[in-house]
Amino acid sequence: MTHRIAMISEHASPVALLGGVDAGGQNVYVDAVSRGVAALGYAADVFTVHTDPALPHVIDWADGVRVINVPAGPASARAKDALWPHMPAFRDGIDRFRRAQGQPYDLIHGNFWMSGWVAAELGRRWSAPVAQIFHATGVTKLREQGAADTSPGERIAVERAVVRAVDRLIAQCPAERDELLDDYDARPERIALIPSAVDIARYRPVPQAEARQRLGIDPAAEVIVYVGRVVPRKDVRNVVQALARLKRARLASGASAIPTLIVVGGETEQPDPEATPEIGVLQALAADLGVAGDVHFVGRHQADELYRWYSAADVAVTTPWYEPFGLTPLEAMACGTPVVGSSVGGISFTIADGETGLLVPPRDPEALAAALERLLGDSGFRERMGRAGRARVMRSFTWQQVAKHTAALYDDLLGQHRPSAEPHRHGPLVALPATIAERRISGVAQ
Ligand code: UDP
Repeated sequence: MTHRIAMISEHASPVALLGGVDAGGQNVYVDAVSRGVAALGYAADVFTVHTDPALPHVIDWADGVRVINVPAGPASARAKDALWPHMPAFRDGIDRFRRAQGQPYDLIHGNFWMSGWVAAELGRRWSAPVAQIFHATGVTKLREQGAADTSPGERIAVERAVVRAVDRLIAQCPAERDELLDDYDARPERIALIPSAVDIARYRPVPQAEARQRLGIDPAAEVIVYVGRVVPRKDVRNVVQALARLKRARLASGASAIPTLIVVGGETEQPDPEATPEIGVLQALAADLGVAGDVHFVGRHQADELYRWYSAADVAVTTPWYEPFGLTPLEAMACGTPVVGSSVGGISFTIADGETGLLVPPRDPEALAAALERLLGDSGFRERMGRAGRARVMRSFTWQQVAKHTAALYDDLLGQHRPSAEPHRHGPLVALPATIAERRISGVAQ
């Protein structure tokens, strides 16, 4: 019998283009895990909030995977934080879809805190086991972003309730497991550590000269690439500052060649400071620091083109303030490019320091400049790191491995789960946030 999985991911649909403010690693995860478990014999329905009127309600997305766009609030693009008041409608829409189909789901896999709430609620209603992955936690976000954190005020309380309610939590790296234990009092035996991964067929090394020719990059230049969302917490400002330091030091020592920093990402295919305000901030910063001509913004690119950008670079860089997991260092490594990353969250787990790249403290342009200079100055070191990076990804970070571990977790939960005779008697498990959410809805234009 095929087990049916409800994969719930309110804002991050596999269908969405990647690289925008609210589209990133979670979209990749939901897509890859759904396909992966489907290849192992499960049927997965991915439920997302219908925010794009051009999309049909049900999409046959891949073998064994459908994407169900559930109406909840207006069918228009919305920031993910604005989706919270619509979660009760989302929950009920999923339930209606299930009833209309006449087939139950055997297991629910929640993604992010809002869908965690929906998953916990539906788990109760359907008497089905729930596995939950947060992708990012509210406590860390608030700690790192302070007043700039736009999360709804209930976020952390909801997360705590979800941690208590679900059967299993998936942590993507040891740092996330520690957050769940220390900040959320999760029970250790309920946490499964399943690192995320990279598509090694898509992210593959190509000769640097070939990649540069295709992209129109000077074959002789030293190239540093940043790939990812262009938002403050990714701290591309730190990279621009490091480049400026590196440039000053080189000019002072009489050298004239300055590396080029290429920034891949943003809201639009053409770099546009209107659509991506952080691009405007970075341009102004680069101008202030005298490196405007050394920083190139190339806009957002599709996943299937990114291997060329990684392969064209001598070094990839990512120095966010914090990072729940971070797919881009793995992508760089899969393309055989050494990567400098900040020693936070998942990055300190995925980059083997000194072997596949270098770790530096976050918010430290001096340390970053030194690490970049160390790599740029030693092509043998880079080549060794590039080879080691590809090998590390193939060994430990493939989606096939993630699918295998996730399916094993599903099997475990399905084997243990005893459906209750009267599932509805319990009522909503996460009662407080539900009440808040319902109350808010009445004040929100639908
Ligand atoms: N990405 C993309 N096109 C771009 C920039 C980024 O497809 O122009 C992808 C990138 O390759 C990665 C994802 O967006 O797979 C970002 O995931 P990550 O975990 O690094 O960060 P998040 O965005 O989830 O914070």
